Amino acid sequence: AARQRQLMESDLRVALEKGQLRVVYQPQVDASSEAVTGFEALVRWDHPEHGPVSPAVFIPLAEEIRLIDEIGEWVLRTACAEAVKWPPHISVAVNLSPVQFKSPALPSVVRMVLGDTELAAKRLELEITEGVFLSNDDHVHEMIAALKKIGLKLALDDFGTGYSSIGYLNKAVFHKLKIDGSFVREASSRPENVAIIQSIVQLAKSFRMSVTAEGVETAEDFERMRDLGCDTIQGYLFGRPLSYDRANQMVLGLGAKRMAG
Ligand code: C2E
Ligand code: MG
Ligand code: MG
Repeated sequence: AARQRQLMESDLRVALEKGQLRVVYQPQVDASSEAVTGFEALVRWDHPEHGPVSPAVFIPLAEEIRLIDEIGEWVLRTACAEAVKWPPHISVAVNLSPVQFKSPALPSVVRMVLGDTELAAKRLELEITEGVFLSNDDHVHEMIAALKKIGLKLALDDFGTGYSSIGYLNKAVFHKLKIDGSFVREASSRPENVAIIQSIVQLAKSFRMSVTAEGVETAEDFERMRDLGCDTIQGYLFGRPLSYDRANQMVLGLGAKRMAG
């Protein structure tokens, strides 16, 4: 297993250098109009021998071997360079690892990428998870303030899975809260989740955050989350993560709505 891991580590370095990573884009739609409002950028690794490796596997590896800053910057640059070609009302969301969040250089890297790609800061959303709050408090709030000063938006990702502490919401002032897909999908079988989602939405609204439901797979999930007050919907129902070209077709209105479900 150790040998296997070592191989993966060196393969990941090679993947970054040789351009074996790519970015796919999952549509986010307005809950009432069902129009596309933006895309979440998600990294993909096609290993030359082992085939696709899930980011849930290689992102933690990249964090451990401190390759995450480089991979993260590459994803950010790629996503911004591609998103700038979309109409100005379309936003792009990029995931940030808690490890990247600790890097003091992060705000200047983001400024540089926005400058180089000419993407307006307000079209960029950075998604962070509650994991960032596990480290030193002062630093986290300084980082949040520095990023917000750039003019971009901050989303709290995967809400409902971790500690889901209300304290984080109140202190940090995110622009958006994303309710985790597992939670969204469980709502159909566990009615108590509906009550919890309802209070999360109300809480978010009282902090003037918009709410996205992730992992929406069925029309039933969609209608439930829309009726509970979610503003934005993301999930296989409206589209899987797509190549840049396919995402473009969707922006131009050539892609079918409600692709699955
Ligand atoms: P995430 O940021 O919460 O992204 C959403 C994940 O849910 C994506 O998995 C997406 O493909 C999947 N998903 C979307 N709609 C549905 C649905 O309807 N049903 C189900 N079952 N799944 C759905 P993916 O692309 O495998 O990414 C997994 C995680 O890896 C992401 O979760 C994120 O935490 C991380 N990740 C992906 N790309 C990046 C990146 O560029 N940087 C960092 N730091 N993390 C990344
Ligand atoms: Mg995300
Ligand atoms: Mg998520």
